[in-house]
Amino acid sequence: MDLAISEATWLQSLGPHSHELLEQVGDVATECAKRADEHDRTGTFPAKDFDDLAAAGLNAATVPREHGGLGLGPLNGDTLTLWLMTKELAKADLSLGRCWEGHTNSLVLLQALASEQQQERWFDGVARRGQKWVAWSGEPQARKPGEGTRFGTSITAVEGGWVLDGTKAFATSATGADWALLLVNTAGPGGARHADAPPEGLLLLACDLSDPTVTVDESWWDPIGMRATASHVVEFGQTFLPEENLIGTPGAYLHQGWQSAFTPHYAASFLGAAEGAFDYALEYLARQNKTADPYVQQRAGSMKVNIETSHLWLAHVAQLWDSGQRAGAQRAGNSARHLVEHLALETVDHCVRACGARSLVRPSPVERILRDLTFYARHDNDDHVLATIGRAALGETHDSSFFKP
Ligand SMILES: Cc1cc2nc3c(=O)[nH]c(=O)nc-3n(C[C@H](O)[C@H](O)[C@H](O)COP(=O)(O)OP(=O)(O)OC[C@H]3O[C@@H](n4cnc5c(N)ncnc54)[C@H](O)[C@@H]3O)c2cc1C
Repeated sequence: MDLAISEATWLQSLGPHSHELLEQVGDVATECAKRADEHDRTGTFPAKDFDDLAAAGLNAATVPREHGGLGLGPLNGDTLTLWLMTKELAKADLSLGRCWEGHTNSLVLLQALASEQQQERWFDGVARRGQKWVAWSGEPQARKPGEGTRFGTSITAVEGGWVLDGTKAFATSATGADWALLLVNTAGPGGARHADAPPEGLLLLACDLSDPTVTVDESWWDPIGMRATASHVVEFGQTFLPEENLIGTPGAYLHQGWQSAFTPHYAASFLGAAEGAFDYALEYLARQNKTADPYVQQRAGSMKVNIETSHLWLAHVAQLWDSGQRAGAQRAGNSARHLVEHLALETVDHCVRACGARSLVRPSPVERILRDLTFYARHDNDDHVLATIGRAALGETHDSSFFKP
C-alpha cells in the first residue's frame, strides 16, 4: 500500500529496531493469515500463531528488557511499535489481534502494578516458556431475553488468600491462556465494567489456569464473529487464589486509570481489520479492471484517507504516552478509540460496496473481517465513549475507564 503522507510521519518516527521487529511480525502474520479461516470456522484459539510468535522471539513484546522481553508499550517509551505489531496481527486475523492485545495488555499491568518478585516470576514464564496471559473482567449483569445463566463471581477472604466462586463470560483465550488476571469485586458480581461498588473493592488476582477448579464451558460462545478468540464462559468452583497472587493495592486499577492504556490498543486492532479490507479491495479492483470507475476511485480515496487518519491518531496518542503526558494520552486515547472504530467500519463498507457481493463469499477474508469487526466494535459502547469525551469537554464528572453513563 502506498502511504506517502504517512511514511513521512509515523513510520519515520520509529527507529531501525522497530522497523526490524515490524518486518518480523509481518512474516509471522503472513503465516497466521493462512490459518485464520480455519480458526474462524472451528472457533479455535490460534495456538500455532502464538507458538510462531514465541519462536520468533516476539511474544514477550511488553515484558521489560531487564526481564528478557522486547520492552515495548506505554510503560517503556515505545508504544507505537507495539500498536503497529498489533495492527499487523489483527490484519491477518482480528481474533488473533484480540488475543494478542489481551496477552500484551496483561503484561503491561504486571509491569505497572506487580511487585518486583511477582514480575520476576511471571515475566520469566513468558520470556522463557512462552506462557500466555489474558485479563478477564466480563461479568455482564443484565440478562438478555431468554438468557438463563447469570454471570458473576463472588470472592471470600480466607486464611492465606481468597476463594472465588462463579462465572465470567467473554473470557478471551479461555482455551489457550496459561494465566489470567482476574478483575473481581469484593462487593459481589460485576467485575470492573459492570460494578457500581467503590473502586477499593476491585482486586486484581493472577490465576493459574491449570488449576482443576477452573473449567471452561464451551457451549455459550457461538457469536457472529471473533470466533477464534475462544471467549468462553469460565467457571470458578471454589478456586483458591493465594495472597501472593494479589497484584497492586485494591482499587489501583481504577484509581490509576489503567484501562485507558488499552483503549487505543483496541483501535490498533480495528485499524488492522480496515487495512486488511483495503489491501484486498486494491487487489480485487485491479483484477477486475475497475480502477477507472469514478465511484470506485472515490471509495478507494476514502479508504486511504481513513487509514492514514487512523495511523496519525495512533501515532499522536503513542507519542503522548511516550513523552509522559499521561492525562493527555488518556483523553486522546478515548478520542482515537471512538474515531478509529468509525473509520474502520466505513473502510470495510467502502470495500464491500466497491468490490461487490463476491467479496463476501468465502474464502474472501472480507467476509470474516466484516463479521469480526462488527462484533469487536461492541467491546465498549461507542455511544458511551463519545459521551465520555463530551462530559470531559463540558467539565462534567466522567468515568474514562469503562465509559459508564
Ligand atoms: C470479542 C470480544 C472479546 C472480549 N474479551 C474480553 C476479555 O478478554 N476480557 C474481558 O474482561 N472482557 C472481554 N469482553 C467483554 C466486554 O468487556 C463486555 O463485558 C461485554 O461486551 C459485555 O457484553 P454486552 O455488550 O452484551 O453487555 P452489556 O454490558 O450489558 O452491554 C449492553 C449494552 O448496554 C449498555 N449498557 C450497559 N450498562 C448500561 C446502563 N447501566 N445503562 C445504559 N446502558 C448500559 C452497554 O454500553 C452496551 O451498549 C470482550 C468482548 C468482545 C465482544
